[in-house]
Amino acid sequence: MISISDQSDFSIHNIPFGIFSTADRSKRAGCAIGHQIIDLQVLADKIDLGFDRQVLSAETLNNFIGLGKQVTSHLRARIQAWLRDDASVLYAQEGIFVEQSDAQMHMPVHVGDYTDFYSSIEHATNVGKMFRDPANALLPNWRHLPVGYHGRASSIVVSGAPLHRPCGQLMPKGADQPIYGPTGRLDFELEMAFIIGKENGLGNPISVNDAEDYIFGMVIFNDWSARDIQKWEYVPLGPFLGKNFGSSISPWIVTMEALDHFRVSGPTQQPAVLDYLSSSGDRNYDISLEVGIQPHGSEEAVVCRSNFKYMYWNMCQQLAHHTVNGCNVRIGDMLASGTISGKDESSYGSMLELSWAGSKSLPMTDGTERKFIHDGDTVKMRAFAQKDGRRVGFGEVSTQILPHK
Ligand code: MN
Repeated sequence: MISISDQSDFSIHNIPFGIFSTADRSKRAGCAIGHQIIDLQVLADKIDLGFDRQVLSAETLNNFIGLGKQVTSHLRARIQAWLRDDASVLYAQEGIFVEQSDAQMHMPVHVGDYTDFYSSIEHATNVGKMFRDPANALLPNWRHLPVGYHGRASSIVVSGAPLHRPCGQLMPKGADQPIYGPTGRLDFELEMAFIIGKENGLGNPISVNDAEDYIFGMVIFNDWSARDIQKWEYVPLGPFLGKNFGSSISPWIVTMEALDHFRVSGPTQQPAVLDYLSSSGDRNYDISLEVGIQPHGSEEAVVCRSNFKYMYWNMCQQLAHHTVNGCNVRIGDMLASGTISGKDESSYGSMLELSWAGSKSLPMTDGTERKFIHDGDTVKMRAFAQKDGRRVGFGEVSTQILPHK
């Protein structure tokens, strides 16, 4: 039987899905277990899984996810049972296990549409204080609906893919004309994103109580931001080139079944929300988050520790709100939380907040300091849930910033 460290994100309780390749295996579906991957294409060659195995040889998981939770949850449960059984097909056959260190990870889904919310009250308050009015940091709508905007799906990349520092239009302080140049305020945003697993069809709102059926799983989401470009362009319509140059995700999709054990209640919502947003039960998740910055050639410094449970608006409310006007969501769509900040300064989920708009610096391990991200820096985000001796993690999303083109 396979032995897995207690500290592994990929315990038997997890079984996340992803797309990988190796030197001699084309892109295909796999599950992470410990430091290994179960090759689902090879598994399907050995045993009839009860569905069209072609979906496991595709370059993305969209068609597999589209089979529905009845199929995907059942496969996950069978893998868990097989892992516990020395006589199972997993151990009887050659070539099913692959070392993660031998594999390259790819985008797990084709993302048709990406939406970014703004659902942490601490983050929205911090940004409102810095960019607007310290006395009225939250706009009047903020506590009544999960504010969001439609982002750019084409530039979402997987962990390990580097990004170039973006250039754009900037308005230097005190100047009366904008200039063109590289951003001087490159920032990360610590977020989680959920992936749509079931379609509603145009014109059919998803109710807040049905929303969980439509969510396949989650990844860590780094919503890269260029604060100077953003600040100049975002009024009156919201973020555009300050955001659409790249977002990075962790490669393994952790299913909602795996996260079920880590449900917690969310913050009290005051004033009460409209009926279509009103839900009961534990809809938040206790997932520890951290961000590290690794300067080129040096060790990483952890700059933020936060938690997904701080979210003011939960995913079911976000999805109900997103579709209440009849907007359709499709399999593979990605809906990100917005920056996840906590109350404590060390839990702020962006450099904008950690450096308080560049008014203070964070120490790095090599003696340098950061207000924003430098060329050559690698930003790493990690996420895991742990309770009752059970650990379910996401691994990490790691992205190096290269100089501008
Ligand atoms: Mn964001």
